[in-house]
Amino acid sequence: MLLDTYGRQAVDLRVSLTDRCNLRCTYCMPEEGLQWLAKPELLTDEEIVRLVSIAVRDLGVREVRFTGGEPMLRPGLVAIVEACAALTPRPELSVTTNGIGLARTAAALRQAGLDRVNVSLDTLDPDTFHILTRRHRHQDVLAGLAAAERAGLTPVKLNAVLMRGVNDHEAADLLGWCLERGYELRFIEQMPLDAQHGWDRSRMITAEEILDRLRERFTLTAEPSAARGAAPAERWLVDGGPGRVGVIASVTRPFCRACDRTRLTADGQIRNCLFATEETDLRAALRGGADDAAIGELWRTAMWGKKAGAGIDDPEFLQPDRPMSAIGG
Ligand code: SAM
Ligand code: SF4
Repeated sequence: MLLDTYGRQAVDLRVSLTDRCNLRCTYCMPEEGLQWLAKPELLTDEEIVRLVSIAVRDLGVREVRFTGGEPMLRPGLVAIVEACAALTPRPELSVTTNGIGLARTAAALRQAGLDRVNVSLDTLDPDTFHILTRRHRHQDVLAGLAAAERAGLTPVKLNAVLMRGVNDHEAADLLGWCLERGYELRFIEQMPLDAQHGWDRSRMITAEEILDRLRERFTLTAEPSAARGAAPAERWLVDGGPGRVGVIASVTRPFCRACDRTRLTADGQIRNCLFATEETDLRAALRGGADDAAIGELWRTAMWGKKAGAGIDDPEFLQPDRPMSAIGG
């Protein structure tokens, strides 16, 4: 099992399939993009499946989420999902995506065994979408969402980040839109994980502000914290339910004490936290001929060293070198 010294067990694996992306969200990447990983540095499809199988078979991982960068840009995505769906015990499989390309791939992903998708969409307005992502692809995301629903990748979940003066006035509109369609919306507080280091605590829209804006239109009833489990989102029933909304308050109400995650980057590094400053190189072990037992031991050691918390709100907080897009959000 993947335990740490604070008694937590990691059962939820986030796998980054690529650091590349076809959007340039302002809170994530600079306009010109980043220095992408070279192909030989990336794990191959086979290497990814081998590591996931060690995690599932030997280390107690029950849930695998593919992310990036933009995971739809990985040519082998469907094959990777299919191979992971054939593992015993069968892990729950999901993808976090900006939704572009989902219109084309949703049915194949479902067929391959994908259980769910989380689609990131911050605005209902195509012009605001362009300001936030620097690309004119709003329509493609909407088409991707519809395709996910048709393919049965449900419940479709939406992630939204609010930026002051850009889309923060849309909180209630986004929720209304999701409720009408049966999508589960979660707002994520903006975190200091952008490549440009432009995060400013004083400008961030806090969970409290998000909830205040939603309460102007909806009645929110907090779900008991037991229902939350290790999920980072605190959830509220909207107008008595069954619709819900979640808020991931990573900065103002961190959930580190219940964290059950372990992360594998596209170049084969284990991170025991989004905000970790150290990584464990499984790619070198894999390519050096290590057997499954040795790789499992490296992974366990990496997780054992997990810190109590990310400490974003501490004065001495240091942003990790890798941005979110290269870690896997
Ligand atoms: N490209 C995919 C997408 O956008 O869904 C997957 C990777 S992206 C890094 C994963 C999630 O992280 C997205 O929901 C995105 O909005 C969120 N994200 C990116 N940068 C963030 C930041 N600085 N603070 C909070 N969330 C962020
Ligand atoms: Fe790409 Fe996702 Fe980052 Fe936006 S948040 S730039 S879609 S990786």
